[in-house]
This record gives sequence, structure tokens and C-alpha cells, in this order.
Amino acid sequence: MSLEKQRTAIITGITGQDGAYLTKLLFDKGYSIIGVTRSHNKDSLLKLKQLNIASNVIIEECDLIDLSSIIKLIDKYKPDEIYNLAAQSSVGVSFKQPIGTISFNIISVLNLLEAIRIIKPTIRFYQASSSEMYGKVTNLPVTINTPMHPLSPYAISKASAHWIVVNYRESYGLHACNGVLFNHESVLRGNDFFVKKVIHETVKNHKNPEWVLKVGNIDIKRDFGYSPNYVEAMWLMLQSDVPDDFIICSGKSISLRSIIEYTFAKLNVSLDKLVIDTDFMRPTDIEDIYGDNTPAKTKLNWNYDLDFYQVLEILINEEIQFLDLKSF
Ligand code: NAP
Repeated sequence: MSLEKQRTAIITGITGQDGAYLTKLLFDKGYSIIGVTRSHNKDSLLKLKQLNIASNVIIEECDLIDLSSIIKLIDKYKPDEIYNLAAQSSVGVSFKQPIGTISFNIISVLNLLEAIRIIKPTIRFYQASSSEMYGKVTNLPVTINTPMHPLSPYAISKASAHWIVVNYRESYGLHACNGVLFNHESVLRGNDFFVKKVIHETVKNHKNPEWVLKVGNIDIKRDFGYSPNYVEAMWLMLQSDVPDDFIICSGKSISLRSIIEYTFAKLNVSLDKLVIDTDFMRPTDIEDIYGDNTPAKTKLNWNYDLDFYQVLEILINEEIQFLDLKSF
């Protein structure tokens, strides 16, 4: 039996894509895990159930906008680490709900850091920052020092939260880190996100003559990766004795058009099924963005070398299994 004390982690946003993979990773490492959700209902644990880990976590309802609720939660469990993944995480939704997105995504982070500062300042804190903060970039690849020019309410909220984390680290000496993650995907991604939407709809409907895939601007390029590998970087950041911010990405970008072409070819779907619909266009969009993952690889020993076509193969196969399409 190990004499090492079992570590406790709180994961906010545990019901989402990254929450599920991070829970699996931490459980395999022997952590005791407390998962935070806004509202616990029969569907909230679906992703955890898909990974067979739902029964390994304690779920707590907590309103992250309410400081006193967070104080009670942290006081009850006195965790070693907090991973803050909860957010309104969709850029598209943020244009429809700018006030809700900005207020939740900023105040929740401020509350968590205040509660840590007051109750147990030794807690290590991870904040889910986003490459969207960089927005209109002029120099690629993006590094942690690239100037930010956010192009959406979501990006603005994440940029503010990012600087709150830096401020609490510098002002109060907290072990608080920003993981600036570029897009990362998996079978557990929400169906409204681009890559998952393309794969989910194509796998589900590829034999349906009536179906078409409606998309917006597909000539933009993004740096995409695989979620199970990206959550490992979150954990590595909190194991480092020196808190810092890191870019987590694949290092290359691919156009959305190429993703559709690859998926359609793999499932024998004609490109006639592709419909560009202006309803899916955004008021502003980043044209091309990719990052530099060298510091994460050299300082954290984060290991990642998948290119996005390899990830697409995994995602399409996972989706086929997920939808249990026996006809393949
Ligand atoms: P996700 O699947 O959308 O999960 C986020 C979770 O946050 C939801 O399950 C939801 O759980 C909770 N939440 C709390 N307040 C919310 C609100 N006002 N609106 C909607 N959801 C709310 O996100 P993810 O892909 O796992 O990403 C995890 C974190 O990383 C997020 O902060 C996201 O912004 C950030 N991020 C993601 C990517 C990516 O490519 N996936 C890239 C960069 C950064 P409950 O309903 O149970 O509370």
C-alpha cells in the first residue's frame, strides 16, 4: 500500500468533454475527485458514464457566481488542486448571449481565486484559457506573449479571466496557471462544435438522400488536437513547482474545408451534400491560427505528436462505434 496521501481535486465543468477525460486521468492516478455542476440531473453524468467513471466521483451542485457557495465547497473538501473547466464555452452562443457569457466566465474565476486566497492559498489552480483570446493575430505561431485581440464575447471573457489568474499569481503568490488550449476534439464534444457536427452528422446521415450538411465560413484554418491528450497537459501544469501559463496545441492549422473533404471521402459522401449557409457565418472570425507548443513539450514534458488527419481517423471511428452503426 502506498504511504503517499491521496490527493483531492475539484473539477468544475466536470459534465463537459474535458471534465470527463480529466476525471478519468485523475482517477487513474489515484485522486479523490469532486465534480461541480450547476444542476445535477439524469443527463449530467452522460459523458462520465461513457468513460465508465461516473460512480468514481462525488458530484456537488454549486453556483460559481455565488462566492459564499464556493467558500463552503472549498472549506468542505480542502482540495489540493482545482481545475476550473466550467464556462459557457461556445463562441457562436457567446454572440447570442454576450452578457451571460461574459459575466459567468469572468466572475466564476474571480470567485474561485478569492475563495482559494481566503481559505487555503496552497491550492493549485488551473484555468481553462483559450486560444480564441489571441483573435486577430498578425504573427504566427501564437506564443504566450502574442498580443491579444479577442474577436468575440467568449474570447473577451476568457482574456479577462486569463489576466485575473495572472494577477492573483503575481499579487498573492497563488499557484495559479492558465492552460491556453487550442481547439481539441473527441467523441464527447458537444454536437454543435464544428468538427463534431461534421463527423456526427455525416456518420449518422451519410445514406440519407435528403440530408445536407449546412456550414458557415469553411475557408478559415484552426489548430485542432485530441482532448484526452490535452487534459494531460492540465495535470502536468499543476505538478510543476513553478506556476506558469502554457500554450497547448498541435502546432499546425488545417482548414475546415479539408476536414469536411476528408470526412466525406472516408464515408463516400459527395461534396454536393455540402451547403454554405450564411446563418452559420459569424460577425467576426479568425482567418488562420496555430500555436507554438515547444514550451509545453520542453518544460512540462508534454508529449503530443498527432497530426489532425490521425485525430480525424480516431474521431470518425469513435463516432461510428458511438452510434453503433453495425452496417459498417
Ligand atoms: P464543455 O463541454 O462545454 O463543458 C463546459 C461545462 O461548463 C459544461 O458541461 C457545463 O456544466 C459548465 N457550465 C458552467 N456554466 C456554464 C454556462 N453558463 N453555460 C454553459 N456551460 C456552463 O467544454 P469543454 O470543451 O469541456 O471545455 C472545457 C473548458 O475549456 C471550457 O472552459 C472551455 O471554454 C475551455 N476551452 C475549450 C476548448 C475546446 O476546444 N474544447 C478550447 C479552449 C478552451 P454544467 O451544466 O454541468 O454546469
